[in-house]
Amino acid sequence: MKIEEHSAVEIGRQIAARELSSREVTAYFLDRAGSLDSQVNAFTHLAGEAALKRAEQVDRRIAAGENLTPLAGVPVAIKDVLCIEGMPTTCGSRMLKEYRSPYTATAVAQLIAGGLVPIGKTNMDEFAMGGSTETSVFGVTRNPWSLDRTPGGSSGGSAVALSAGMSPLTIGSDTGGSVRQPAAFCGVCGLKPTYGRVSRYGLVAFASSLDQVGPLAHYVEDLAACLQLLSGHDAHDSTSLNVDVPPYADSLSQPLKGVRVGMIREHLQHEAVGAGIRTAVDRGRQQLEELGAEIVEVHLPHTQYSVPTYYLVAPCEASGNLSRYEGSHYGYRAAAEAGADSPLESMMTRSRSEGFGDEVKRRIMLGTFALSAGYNDKFYKKALQVRRLITDDYQNAFQQVDALLGPVTATPAFRLGEKINDPVQMYLEDLFTVGANLAGIPAMSIPAGWDDAGLPLAIQLQGPVLGEARLLNIAYQMQQAGFFQPRIAPLKTG
Ligand code: GLN
Repeated sequence: MKIEEHSAVEIGRQIAARELSSREVTAYFLDRAGSLDSQVNAFTHLAGEAALKRAEQVDRRIAAGENLTPLAGVPVAIKDVLCIEGMPTTCGSRMLKEYRSPYTATAVAQLIAGGLVPIGKTNMDEFAMGGSTETSVFGVTRNPWSLDRTPGGSSGGSAVALSAGMSPLTIGSDTGGSVRQPAAFCGVCGLKPTYGRVSRYGLVAFASSLDQVGPLAHYVEDLAACLQLLSGHDAHDSTSLNVDVPPYADSLSQPLKGVRVGMIREHLQHEAVGAGIRTAVDRGRQQLEELGAEIVEVHLPHTQYSVPTYYLVAPCEASGNLSRYEGSHYGYRAAAEAGADSPLESMMTRSRSEGFGDEVKRRIMLGTFALSAGYNDKFYKKALQVRRLITDDYQNAFQQVDALLGPVTATPAFRLGEKINDPVQMYLEDLFTVGANLAGIPAMSIPAGWDDAGLPLAIQLQGPVLGEARLLNIAYQMQQAGFFQPRIAPLKTG
């Protein structure tokens, strides 16, 4: 087996046993990423020497007999929306193209403390707004299973780096599906934790009541090991939950006998869902039944309002969060127009006009409009009320079941260029993913085989608040039963 086909936990075991050094493994993945990335454009930055140095430090700690975590020495690629001291944090935007982080995000700091080695930053839709990784200032990222298709987004670079075996583990962020949808399109697992499970300190804010950091991996045990390190309370983020982090790996092997799983009627019967995805969900149901789970039908009656609700809440919060980019604090600064009445205002207007791309500007304008006097009650407040109803739908469903099964997306990866000029079509992509963010619950995408055209299929599991252990348990049992097998996308080397 090639190194990239092993689980991150297995690579960590070999490093701990000193069968491999972290330096060797890190150099291997850096090389692979360096030689393959021109085909897919998954990385915005490769850490090179800095990563090798960190790997050597981990090797020294292991040689000194320190007992590190199961992932110590394992490389990880980080979405370019999380700050790492000394590296660029660009958010795929011209606005932050030259920005370097003065500090490290808590989530990443915890990975580093656990011995993981960040090997680079991954490409994304600008400021995480999008579902196709087509809006980055660094250019589009391509799906390694079909180079003329999107990898999904906004964490497209993280999904591709993992899928093509350029990193054994990657980190994304999910505000409305940005970990799960690219994971689904690229044939890997992706987990969006409960809102507040992982600190958002050092995660560049998009929509603060929805944003969550989450891991992507080929193997469910890797997600569990990584979530273990990411999770926990952080004094720098008052919304991070101050509750114990359970030992996630311990719950993986529990049998599923008697576990109740709900099939979401409104998701499955949605007209947009294609035959391939329908079959995939059905195969998931059969697999769960074989494993002893009990399947029931549940309703999420407000499903049809989830996309409109999300596309009010998220832009409203974004319009506030992105007001900090005005040319004087961070990033891009344009010169004021010569002879302008107010040079300051002119500098700010020009900096924002030139620094942001069209989709980001569209969201800022939508959010500003929906929050403006006279419209606030009609739009923003209304959206918050519907958000409550959507949350209640989930709470009612979890009175009856332990987890929900459904699609992540209606179809496999679409073609590059297909939706980028039609925002509404792009937004409708998020139909099955935004509910979990609005309700703050954990959700994951797992592979469900490949269709006749060679494109990955996927299914989604959702759980109640802090139900990550159960989701990982279900996914692990399905993986062990052979429901999905890790596959590295076959990019041509050299
Ligand atoms: N596609 C969604 C959007 O464009 C979700 C993005 C995300 O989760 N960051 O907002």
